[in-house]
Amino acid sequence: MTSTEFRKAAHELVDWMADYMDNVGDYPVKPNIKPGDIKIQLPTSAPEQGEGFQSIFSDFNNIILPGITHWQHPQFAAYFPSGTSGSSVLAEMLSSAIGAQCMIWLTSPSAEELEERMMEWLRDMLGLPKEFTGVIQDSSSSSTLVALLTAREALNNYSINKNGFEGRGKFRIYTSEQAHSSVDKGVKIAGFGIENLVKIAVDENFALKAEALEAAIKKDLEAGYIPLCVVSTIGTTSSTAVDPIRSIGKICKKYKCWHHIDASYSGAALLIPSMRWMSDGVELADSFVFNPHKWMLTNFDCSAYFVRDKKALTDTFSILPEYLKTPHDHLVNNYRDWSIPLGRRFRALKLWFVIRSYGVAGLRKIIEEHIGIGQWLKKEIEGEEDFEILAPVPVNLICFRYRPIGITDEDVLNNLNTTLLEGLNQTGKILLTQTKLDNKYTLRYVSGNSNTSLEEVKRSWDMITDFARKIKI
Ligand SMILES: *Cc1c(COP(=O)(O)O)cnc(C)c1O
Repeated sequence: MTSTEFRKAAHELVDWMADYMDNVGDYPVKPNIKPGDIKIQLPTSAPEQGEGFQSIFSDFNNIILPGITHWQHPQFAAYFPSGTSGSSVLAEMLSSAIGAQCMIWLTSPSAEELEERMMEWLRDMLGLPKEFTGVIQDSSSSSTLVALLTAREALNNYSINKNGFEGRGKFRIYTSEQAHSSVDKGVKIAGFGIENLVKIAVDENFALKAEALEAAIKKDLEAGYIPLCVVSTIGTTSSTAVDPIRSIGKICKKYKCWHHIDASYSGAALLIPSMRWMSDGVELADSFVFNPHKWMLTNFDCSAYFVRDKKALTDTFSILPEYLKTPHDHLVNNYRDWSIPLGRRFRALKLWFVIRSYGVAGLRKIIEEHIGIGQWLKKEIEGEEDFEILAPVPVNLICFRYRPIGITDEDVLNNLNTTLLEGLNQTGKILLTQTKLDNKYTLRYVSGNSNTSLEEVKRSWDMITDFARKIKI
């Protein structure tokens, strides 16, 4: 593609993107298609000859777009949101155009130094301890794996285990029954053995019970295990439950365990000082992750990982082959030594664009609004006799179900709510997802989408109540 062709096509695409941002609410939130419907429209082999932009773009519109789930649709209330914004998209465009590989300082000094500064900004924006140093990872899952690997290395005095870890099976990792599956995945990948992941019971608010954690650690110590790491959560995926961070931190100090905090989604709410009750005790933690790519208007992927002992982290991941040595290695952060991949995208640029264009106050205001909208919906649900809230709502995820008066059979209620969720999603006008809380089929509504508003949530609530009350029981 020549630069002339690029210029013309890019202008056309920018117009398309701006229109998409304006009109995303006009698409079905979720496409009404079957598995294989898209693939069958794609040629079975790659084209031998190059094709023009118009032909590719027209297939994008005709084949690809109809198979897209529109995460930025204002009625997308499923999972956790995948944030975006004009500023973030612009930065991604620039970073693609530059095409830089940011594995070490020398391969892109600005990327490295901007990342250092952005992580300091974020750390301070969230009220995290000054001693924390940050690095951008691709996802929370990777960040949690990195924390587990670092915990093991740190406990064993860094890099002395060149022949592998003796008695590897003896390590124990602790997390709550409500923790994200990325903890299980990290434990599997790290080779601890899934049997050594101890799931601690939760209280009536779905938060980890600190006494149960301590009891489990004591029992394991008596049995000869080595308690290695506790992964706590600020904002679980099912219900945004908040584990008791300070009590867990104290237990970790007492038993010399690594304390990793997974604040993937709710971490963004720490921008608001009055929400920092959730992170009370964070100064006792060893590492912390949150995803600006969820609730902070920054395109996927961008996961902010913070660690107290930077040396433990780099001792775990550093490599220095001859072809990567540079004269400045002792002066700079070579981020290849801070995570699993060698190659790295220029992700700090979008954070810089987003934080500067909204300002901290602007971001805080948006998140406050999203929380306010969530609290509005919670009150609304509480006000209806035939609906019930199934978990506390610390931020803006509402867990609820339909429970018509007089119906108490749990199986009937589970089936009814499955019908409600599937029926609503089938309309293409709204998208919710489900979870199970105390064995109850639970609908989740998240008001953290970059395009949400009180008006949209009111519309959602009308659709939900209308649909529910028309179901024949
Ligand atoms: C979303 C989420 C994750 C996984 O995040 P990825 O960045 O997709 O790996 C982990 N933990 C919690 C609590 C989450 O909400």
